[in-house]
Amino acid sequence: MLEPGVEARPWDEQLALDDESYRAQLAYLLERSSFYRAKLGAAGVESAQEAGGLGEIARLPLTEKREVKETCTADNPFGAHLCASASEIVRIYSTSGTTGTPSFVPLTAGDFENWVATSARSYAASGVTAGQRIVSTYNAGPWVAGAALAAFDRIGLCHIPVGTGNSERLVVAIERLRPEAAVLTPSYAAYLVEWASERGVDLAASTVERVLVAGEPGGGEPAFRAKLEAGWGGLVTEAMGIGDIGVSLWGECEQQDGMHFGARGFVHAELVDPETGAAVELRDGARGELVLTHLRHRAAPLLRFRTRDHVEVKTSPCRCGRTGPRVRCIGRTDDMLIVRGVNVFPSAVREVVSEFAPRVSGHILVRPRVPGVKQDPPLPVTVELGRDAAPEDALAEAIRARLRNVLVVQTSVELVPWGSLRRSEYKSTLVQH
Ligand SMILES: [Zn+2]
Repeated sequence: MLEPGVEARPWDEQLALDDESYRAQLAYLLERSSFYRAKLGAAGVESAQEAGGLGEIARLPLTEKREVKETCTADNPFGAHLCASASEIVRIYSTSGTTGTPSFVPLTAGDFENWVATSARSYAASGVTAGQRIVSTYNAGPWVAGAALAAFDRIGLCHIPVGTGNSERLVVAIERLRPEAAVLTPSYAAYLVEWASERGVDLAASTVERVLVAGEPGGGEPAFRAKLEAGWGGLVTEAMGIGDIGVSLWGECEQQDGMHFGARGFVHAELVDPETGAAVELRDGARGELVLTHLRHRAAPLLRFRTRDHVEVKTSPCRCGRTGPRVRCIGRTDDMLIVRGVNVFPSAVREVVSEFAPRVSGHILVRPRVPGVKQDPPLPVTVELGRDAAPEDALAEAIRARLRNVLVVQTSVELVPWGSLRRSEYKSTLVQH
């Protein structure tokens, strides 16, 4: 552990400390943020005392990304939740988001430090240690991922930035520089396994022992993970963040049983029902949308921010000694479809289909027949066959039956030959409207 005193702190003690930070953060918001003064005022909260502590946080309104964006003006491109003065801001990132135009994320020096500390805890959980080499494939550029890369210096790793879009260069770097770890999106990690095997390169025989995946859901799906681990011959662990709140907020340890909360002390996590917004208790096995609140943020703090990430919670003790709840991302609420009242995540469809490997490649595409979230069954799913696999009706039927049993959804399955579905060197598209 990078910071055992923090990461293994009993969770009750963490929450008591967070309660103090939260009360101070609320007072700061009410003093400096016109957005939250108006929003909390409309909810009948005029002072931090009236809002109470973390135990009462569910009484406060949720914040949607859209609301914040709507307050951006020519004079204030960040939004009315901005609290810091221009002279305090030392870094401005952009988030591409999954919808709409980019937004700007300002940070003070302290905010940046907390982001790096968070990200370092999350990535160190995977087992990478000082003195090792790590090759990274993120084109950090304007994006918040740049702060995650700073975490590698903090851990003491030798960082080899290679960037996205040049698999040849990446493989040469792996072969010549012999790194112990690689960090990439799960889609790119899968792409490289195929890319390398088609060129007679055995990634599993490389020096890479740890594959750190982040940037999209998928790294935690058992069948998909097994495929990556076989292809790379290493341990796959995942990390997750959200640009508006922080990078790599969560990171998985070597036990591979959900992501630990690296942002503890800086951010508070809650779950809500994605349809009603009602609070869902953070107990073992609970599922819901992740809602995050900054506890010690200065530039543009957010309160009860809806991440649109749908997660499952684990609270059982972890053998690594880190305390607190862990999560596994099931999918993005934005990708979710509702088929006759049942919530269906395309990433969950891929997870079930991947059980049929090697007869399937693991690439799928959900093709809703009508625009929008609500769909009538059967939901069309295109499934790519494995290399040399035959398009047998019995296989399509077995996949259909398995999807019905596991996800309670009626589908129609179309099998297509190996190589038919587009590969991604960044993030995969699983739904095509
Ligand atoms: Zn652990």
